[in-house]
Amino acid sequence: QLDQKVDVVGKDEIAELGNAFNHMAEQLQRVEQSRQEFVSNVSHELKTPLSSIKVLTESLIFQENVPVEMYKEFFTDINSEVDRLNNIISDLLTLVRLDQREVPLNINTVNLNDVTQGILKRLIPLAKKKEIKLIYESHKDITAEIDEVKFTLAISNLIENAIKYTPNGGEVKVIIQSDLQDVFITVKDTGIGIAKEEQSKIFERFYRTDKTRNRETGGTGLGLAITYKTIVMHNGAIVVESEEGEGSTFVIQIPLRHVWEGGTR
Ligand code: ADP
Repeated sequence: QLDQKVDVVGKDEIAELGNAFNHMAEQLQRVEQSRQEFVSNVSHELKTPLSSIKVLTESLIFQENVPVEMYKEFFTDINSEVDRLNNIISDLLTLVRLDQREVPLNINTVNLNDVTQGILKRLIPLAKKKEIKLIYESHKDITAEIDEVKFTLAISNLIENAIKYTPNGGEVKVIIQSDLQDVFITVKDTGIGIAKEEQSKIFERFYRTDKTRNRETGGTGLGLAITYKTIVMHNGAIVVESEEGEGSTFVIQIPLRHVWEGGTR
């Protein structure tokens, strides 16, 4: 009786079903593993500034006759650690919100030249501090269907990074172009660059390159993860080209018209 049933379903089908189950189990395991990694990364990233705060406060508490200058110095350090905690938490909240699939994009037809120029204007003081030349290039008005708030954050992250990882006196160039289907936004800097083997990792949460990990640039390692996620939600793509010591170029491509999952809305 049983043999007959097996024949009806077919041995191949059973094997296929078995493979599908194994594949699903592997995928679930991978999801669980990356969730655990994320939680452990978050804990580590939050613990580092907390440990510094603890050391600083304890040395003030347990030391007799602390000079006023020392109070000032330590409180300034504590203040920047608190800023760091704040930055990490607000970046995490942004990522968690982007991860919630039920939070929809607020799509509108937006002039990208205006959006980008607005971002650049806001970043002028940051660039000025490092005497970095900010260049904007566009030959026509380009409008696209995007979530302006999320998109602004994604592009800001790229331009802020370009400024942050470019030594004084360098140059950051933003170019907007389009063809019939897509818009291309290029952010090019003359900065420190990214090693070939690290270029695919920089979009991962908390990843910071060897060169920048110990440097006091104040980054959270979450900015590019936010940018990547946002671009994918816009059905777009992001690529990086970089040469160490020469500079980096990030190019974002997104469709001019937004395609909703499961059809146009
Ligand atoms: P962070 O907050 O550290 O800047 P991001 O997620 O924005 O985090 O970037 C991840 C890492 O990628 C950075 O720590 C830095 O090592 C590297 N990176 C990003 N943009 C650039 C750039 N324009 N030039 C060189 N390195 C960059």
